[in-house]
Amino acid sequence: MDFNITILGSNSAAPAHGRNQTSQLISWEGESFLVDCGESTQHQLRRFRIKYSKINHIFISHLHGDHYLGLMGLLGTYHLNNRKLPLHIYGPKGLDDIITIQLKYSATVLKFPLIFHLTTPKGKIRLLEIGDMEVYSFPLKHRIPCTGFSFEEKKPRVRLNKKLIAQRHPDIEAIHSLQKGLDVKDKFGNVLFKASDFCEVKPPRKYSYCSDTSFDLTLVDYIKDADLLYHESTFMEAEKARAIQTKHSTTKEAATVAKAAKVKRLLLGHYSGRYPKLEPLLDEARQTFENSVLSEEGFTYNIK
Ligand SMILES: [Zn+2]
Repeated sequence: MDFNITILGSNSAAPAHGRNQTSQLISWEGESFLVDCGESTQHQLRRFRIKYSKINHIFISHLHGDHYLGLMGLLGTYHLNNRKLPLHIYGPKGLDDIITIQLKYSATVLKFPLIFHLTTPKGKIRLLEIGDMEVYSFPLKHRIPCTGFSFEEKKPRVRLNKKLIAQRHPDIEAIHSLQKGLDVKDKFGNVLFKASDFCEVKPPRKYSYCSDTSFDLTLVDYIKDADLLYHESTFMEAEKARAIQTKHSTTKEAATVAKAAKVKRLLLGHYSGRYPKLEPLLDEARQTFENSVLSEEGFTYNIK
């Protein structure tokens, strides 16, 4: 029942202070999804010993270099490693042309099927359904077309109380009924095992990723009640004019969005290179939204 996010890159624009450009790995029930692919992504995947052959879906938010320039390198490595599994890439118009032209001029015919899915920054659009997980895109306000992504479980999870099963040993058929929320009765209609005693029902989980964006409260519609929200926080409030000019957000603005969306936890990131130390950004966010954390490379953030 794993659902977690590993940060591969946390900086904006260029590498600085040991930090790399944006990329995250989302793990869910044995599936691995890559979100954005800054130029150090391959190095970071190796450094943190992540099996990147398991990645079958890559989501690119927009075509500023700090979010996708690692993609061709990664595709090249898959090719050299004789990857056979299809790779799905979800991204904006133009990304398919960029990939095609690079392959053309290196005379490379990929050894695996690459399937490109065009994203459109208009409303909430379902990009992928895999088991009980759905991945959506939604529009962000940036200098070029840009989308966020939301990873949402479809239904509540049922967790069996293994201790109670060991004590009262219902048979397999009874366990299946309990998992469906049905009480198990004898032929006279007496309840033998009560579903509510054996199962804990946990609500579906949600992770929302807001890549580069201006401060925008209309995002609340897409990200509300997320268990974990990543929202870029390139600048501190003192640099608000710069944030407006470059269509980025401040830590206070990220925290304001998190608060309005009633998310459980806020993950900050996409830090400007002007900040060698990040604690002031965290302090500023926490003044508005207490449950804020800094995204740190190599750290994994669990959603329970
Ligand atoms: Zn950007």
